[in-house]
Amino acid sequence: MATNREKLARLMEESIPHDEKESLLAGIFDDIRNDARVFFNDVTEWITGEKPMFKKSDGKTRQTWENDTRNQVVQPLQYVTPKTIDDVVEIVRTAEANGLKVRAVGSGHSFSDVVQTNDVLVNTDLLGSPIELDRSLLKDGVDTSCLVHVENGIKIRALNTYLEQNNLALPNMGGYDAQSIVGAASTGTHGSGISLGPIASIYRSIVVVGDGGTHYRIEPTNGITDPAKYRARFPDNTLIQDDQWFNTVAVSMGCTGIIYSVIMEMIPKYWLREVRTMSDWDSVKAMLVDGAVLRDNRHFEVLVNPYALHGRHDCLITERNMTSKPTEPPYERPHRNYLTALIGLIPGAVDIFDFLFNEFPHLSPVLISEAMKGLVDDGYEDISYRVLNLGTANNISAYSAEIAFPMKNNRYIEAVDHMLQVADQMRRVGDMYHCSPISLRFVKGSDAYLAMMNGEDTCMVEIPVINGTWGGFQLLQRYENAMYAFSGRPHWGQVNYMTGSHDLVRTMYPNYDKWLEVYNRMNAKGTFSNVFTDRCGFSPITFEQA
Ligand SMILES: Cc1cc2nc3c(=O)[nH]c(=O)nc-3n(C[C@H](O)[C@H](O)[C@H](O)COP(=O)(O)OP(=O)(O)OC[C@H]3O[C@@H](n4cnc5c(N)ncnc54)[C@H](O)[C@@H]3O)c2cc1C
Repeated sequence: MATNREKLARLMEESIPHDEKESLLAGIFDDIRNDARVFFNDVTEWITGEKPMFKKSDGKTRQTWENDTRNQVVQPLQYVTPKTIDDVVEIVRTAEANGLKVRAVGSGHSFSDVVQTNDVLVNTDLLGSPIELDRSLLKDGVDTSCLVHVENGIKIRALNTYLEQNNLALPNMGGYDAQSIVGAASTGTHGSGISLGPIASIYRSIVVVGDGGTHYRIEPTNGITDPAKYRARFPDNTLIQDDQWFNTVAVSMGCTGIIYSVIMEMIPKYWLREVRTMSDWDSVKAMLVDGAVLRDNRHFEVLVNPYALHGRHDCLITERNMTSKPTEPPYERPHRNYLTALIGLIPGAVDIFDFLFNEFPHLSPVLISEAMKGLVDDGYEDISYRVLNLGTANNISAYSAEIAFPMKNNRYIEAVDHMLQVADQMRRVGDMYHCSPISLRFVKGSDAYLAMMNGEDTCMVEIPVINGTWGGFQLLQRYENAMYAFSGRPHWGQVNYMTGSHDLVRTMYPNYDKWLEVYNRMNAKGTFSNVFTDRCGFSPITFEQA
């Protein structure tokens, strides 16, 4: 990390870009402010004899935290940046001693309030390194060739680079790589592929700091760690090999403690070929009912124009399958769709979009179809993670809701049909328009109790909205409410309005009580409760009648 002296030297250089200048200045002022706080804390301690909290763990006060899309803003009492697992233990214990709650932030790419806390917010950026896999703790015969151990804060982008260097790869990922691997897994984040579960499905072992600072290592009942070897080496830690605990913690939205590290199972490095073609919703429906497209393609995704043009809803189909390493250099082309990539790179592009969509909303149906046609591609080949990542399109400031539908009986197709009716109603009655297509991805069922795909293969329907779109949040809320009737489960990390009322979560998730039992054990003091756990009815609340 550069010192302030080095930063000042860089600032003096004539050629320094404006963005870098701003970030260097912000960094310098941040350091000065922090040094001043530490100084005044010391003075206060000297005068009053009271030690300020979290001094060792670099705790900062009077910080404003915002998520990536800036729709979640919080000013916690402390914003702490641990560097080791011992720091995490100390943070949890000190917070509890002061009656405070703790939440971890991965990279702040959730649109919902899952991260928020008013008390102690844990920045995990400095816990982002790979850890050497300790084979001596594992059972004899465990195949370690694809096992990887990393600290929780590692971002998917850095993880991909690390894996490629080791001839490995994530079996799957979502359309973006800026999230932390643990933050992503914690909300049930997924990619596409009916043979591929959400990110959490590659977990094999999870190290968590629970309440009281307890050091847990949690694995499935037939987990990879040898209990005798582990207990001999770490008598003070708690090894739990139990499916119920594992399936609770794997997708737990930060509610069961601070995950310090995870061991995951990767696959050997691979390449993908992506083909994108135009179709229409009636034809796609027939393909989905037949089911071959889902079985025959490793990844099958559909974008649907919510509005009919000339009586048909245009669709863009994306198929991705494994291929051998391309021999031609073009596979290195940086962006597979030049126009989308370009728009993502232009500062202010969102304002232009907003202007177009908000001033001329009736153009939306045509603009959406034209944008989809611009994505048609007869074959983009590259290393897996570059094909799976949507690239600079992710730079467009947007938010979304995503609803999970069980695929049993193809009822999800009726749900999508109903969504198209809702879209039409909003357009007709309120001039309320989508500014982008609806996306359908198909994901393998998951054992994690609160994964949106728990129990069966699932169609994930995402509704993205560009920031600033008129009525955007109302549009998402309208869909969520309409989709409960089709067994729709909202994505925890995306915009959602779930509440604990009417026993909604229990009705939605058949294993909720098993999840709750472990949650109540690991969160017995309420240390990891927050506004989200209150809203969903996870946190026990006692009200004493006067
Ligand atoms: C551009 C963009 C693209 C996206 N694409 C997809 C997609 O393709 N598929 C999909 O499913 N979702 C997608 N999402 C949603 C996103 O992946 C999830 O919301 C994800 O959880 C965000 O990860 P994060 O690292 O930012 O975690 P955060 O948002 O910071 O945190 C998420 C949750 O994890 C908890 N958490 C984080 N770190 C820890 C830890 N160390 N210990 C315990 N709890 C922890 C937090 O407390 C919180 O509850 C996308 C979001 C954006 C902004």
